[in-house]
Amino acid sequence: MPALPADRKVVPTLTQTSRAVQRTIEPGSSAICPQCGLIVKFQARTQGKQVICNVYDDGVWKRVEHFHLECYDDAGQPFGEATISETPRRGA
Ligand SMILES: [Zn+2]
Repeated sequence: MPALPADRKVVPTLTQTSRAVQRTIEPGSSAICPQCGLIVKFQARTQGKQVICNVYDDGVWKRVEHFHLECYDDAGQPFGEATISETPRRGA
């Protein structure tokens, strides 16, 4: 059996632009934060937060990037304000 990503999900096709959501870092994460170059690592004690970005270029999905929450702010929120996935905000 080929290994599949654990959190494989259907990506909605209506929004073909880069977007960012804020999530709790999950166990088993080994993504590299593009801002600081360190692993976005699960820490049971601190319940770390991450920002997951779906990056689109010209309406075509390119990649997913995982930032530490602080690093995303440091980077100037390159893919827009991170929405909190559990309670999505509208408007504003
Ligand atoms: Zn970082």
